[in-house]
Amino acid sequence: MMFWAERDSPEMVRSLGVRFGQLGIPAGVELTDKAAARWKAALQAAGLTLVTVFAAYPGEDYADIPAVKRTVGFVPPDTRAARVVRTLEVSDFAARLRVASIACHIGCLPRDTGHGDYAGVRDAVRVVCDHAAGHGQSFALETGQEPAGELLEFIGQVDRANLRINFDPANMILYGTGEPMAALELLAPLVISVHCKDGDWPAPGVAGALGRERPLGKGSVGIGRFVEALRKAGFSRPLKVERETEDHEERVGDLARGVQLLRRLLLA
Ligand code: MG
Repeated sequence: MMFWAERDSPEMVRSLGVRFGQLGIPAGVELTDKAAARWKAALQAAGLTLVTVFAAYPGEDYADIPAVKRTVGFVPPDTRAARVVRTLEVSDFAARLRVASIACHIGCLPRDTGHGDYAGVRDAVRVVCDHAAGHGQSFALETGQEPAGELLEFIGQVDRANLRINFDPANMILYGTGEPMAALELLAPLVISVHCKDGDWPAPGVAGALGRERPLGKGSVGIGRFVEALRKAGFSRPLKVERETEDHEERVGDLARGVQLLRRLLLA
């Protein structure tokens, strides 16, 4: 399950019957040795194994697509250097917890590969990859903010062996960047982790609108098909449920139902 420091506790995650997690680190969370030791003890006590640590940054806004383009990841030039520094700190923190993968949203890549921000993001990703490699970690890019083909082209441009993909089928739908099954087929060899999240496509004719995230199984992903496609692609790592809704109780309830749904699908 994907969960967030300072919002979710390891006990809550474990209470849903989950054994593997991805920890999101919001802006401002301290990443000292002491904090790492605290997390290590809490995870151990809950019997939870972390497989990825995610970085998020101050000032990111997911209200709609223009806001994402303006504020998310390594794309905005003014905050790029500071966010790279923070990501390296997240990599160090993950290393203290013995986690072999870090991840983030790098933002909406410019479509024009000759754009200065494209080269800027490519160089930023190289810096993160090289630092993570020193810890034996992969660096995973979340799907959805660009079509799968553009992500693949970008990964080729970065040209680092430890650059991987965290595949989120719902994001492909929410951002309207392509049919998730076709995207999975294209990206499967690079997929190191997966978000099981659901959603509906953006309303037609509303410029810049994101689609609506939905509880797992209630949206347009076709989660049964997705799990089957993962199986066919030979993906055998733990699946992570993700649900991002404001209301805490609704979110925990949806996560619990998501875990149960996945369990049924995996046994089918
Ligand atoms: Mg996700």
